[in-house]
Amino acid sequence: MAVKVQYDQDCRMTITGVECSCGCEHHAIDKDIYIGKGLLEKVPQYITRRGLGTHCVLVADDNTWRVAGEAVEKHLTDAGFAVTRCVIHREGDMLPDDLSCGEVLLSITRETEFLIAVGSGTVTDTTRINAERTGLPFVSVGTAPSMDGYASAVAPLLHRGLKIQRPAVCPEIIVCDLDVLATAPLSMIASGVGDVLGKYIAKADWQLGEIINGEACCPVCVEMVTNAVNALVDNVDEIAQKTEKGMRILIEALLLAGVTIMIIDNTRAVASIEHNIAQYWEMILVQQGKEPPMHGASVGVSTLLVWPLFERFAKEDLSRLDLEKIKAKRMPRENRERWMRHAYGEEGGNQIMRENPGDFLTWEEQERRIRTAQERFTEIQQVIAAMPPLAKIRQVMETLHAEMTPEEEHIPDDLLRRSMHCGKDYRTRYTLFKLLDECGLLEEYLKEYPYSFE
Ligand SMILES: [Zn+2]
Ligand SMILES: [Zn+2]
Repeated sequence: MAVKVQYDQDCRMTITGVECSCGCEHHAIDKDIYIGKGLLEKVPQYITRRGLGTHCVLVADDNTWRVAGEAVEKHLTDAGFAVTRCVIHREGDMLPDDLSCGEVLLSITRETEFLIAVGSGTVTDTTRINAERTGLPFVSVGTAPSMDGYASAVAPLLHRGLKIQRPAVCPEIIVCDLDVLATAPLSMIASGVGDVLGKYIAKADWQLGEIINGEACCPVCVEMVTNAVNALVDNVDEIAQKTEKGMRILIEALLLAGVTIMIIDNTRAVASIEHNIAQYWEMILVQQGKEPPMHGASVGVSTLLVWPLFERFAKEDLSRLDLEKIKAKRMPRENRERWMRHAYGEEGGNQIMRENPGDFLTWEEQERRIRTAQERFTEIQQVIAAMPPLAKIRQVMETLHAEMTPEEEHIPDDLLRRSMHCGKDYRTRYTLFKLLDECGLLEEYLKEYPYSFE
C-alpha cells in the first residue's frame, strides 16, 4: 500500500499506508501534527485536546517572539492558561548552547506542566533537551521552514563549544501555520530546501548499507522521504514565491523527515554524510568563535559537494582494485586514533571512537565489503541512477538564490578539505564515503576537491 498523507477538518495530519515488515523496529506515529492557515489561535484548543495542562513556559527568541510568540501567548492567556515567558535575547543569533539551555531550565518551576517552543531549530532544540531532562511534554510552534528538526527526537547542541547530539524528545504537538512560515526570509526557506535535498544522499547511503552490510532499510520511510523531496523539486517555483501550496510542500517534507525518525527511532532516512560534513563545519567554526552557517544551507552545499562522487562511482570499474595494495596501505589503528583526535579534537575524537567501535575494521571485514561491492555493483549503480541529475538539484537551489559553494558559507579551504576526509568518521553509519575508503579510492576521488562549480 502506498504511503498517503492527508489532513482532517482540524488541519491535523494523518498518514496511512505505513504498514511494513522490514527488519527495522517500527513505532506508531502518536504525535499531533497540524499544518494550515490561521492556526495560532487554535493552539490552546490543540493543547487542551491532548490534555497537557494549563501551566507552561513559552520559549522564543527576539525574532520568533515578534512573528508568532506574542500572538501565541495572547491566545493562551485568553484561554485561561498560565504562561511563563522565556524570551532569549542575544546580540547576534541565539545558539543552542549551555547558556540558552540554562535560561529555559531556570524558567521552569514546580508548577510547569508543559513547555512550548515558538521558533525553528535553535529554540526548538533548546526546549527539547529541557523537556527530556525534566520529563515535561512540549509543543512546537514552527516559525520558519528552515530545517527538518521539528519532529526530531535528538537535540543538536553546543556544549562547551563542542557540537553534540543528545537524545531528547519529540514534541507532543507540532503546529505549523502557513502564513507564519511565509514570513520567513527566502534565505531560511532556501535553507529548508537544502536540508530536504540532502535526503537523496541519505537514501542512497542507506541503500548502500543494505547492499554491502545487509542493513535493514525501511521501504516505507524511504518512500515517504522520496515522495516529499520529489514534490519539492517539482514545485520549486511555488516555494520561491512562498505560495500556500509551496509552503505546505516544504514544511510537509521537513516534517515527514521527522516522522521517519519517529517510526524507526533513528535518523537513517534523513541524514548521512552530507549532514556529517555540515555539522563538522558548524562545530569547527563555533570552536573558532565564528558564527556558523544556517544548518540547512550548509547541508545543501555539502549535498552539492558529495553528489559528484556518487555519479563518478557509478562509472567505476571495481575489477581494477588491487586487494594486496589496499591491504598494504591500510591505516594502522594508532594512526587512525591520532587522525581522529586531530580531526575532532582530543575530547571529541575519543568520544566518537568510544561510541563507534565498529569503525575499526579487520582486514577480513574490509575484504568482504570490497568483494560484496564488486559482486553487487549493478545494484549499487541502480541506487545511484535513481538519484536525479545533479544539474536539476543545482537548478532548484538557483531558483531559491540558495548559497551553493563552501565560499558562500565562509568555509575556509583547509576546513573544507578536512571535512571531506573526516565526515565519514563521525559515526558508523554506512556511506559511499566509507565504501570508497574501504576500496582504497577515497584519496583519488578527493584529489580534485574542492571541485569548481562553473
Ligand atoms: Zn538536517
Ligand atoms: Zn519498515
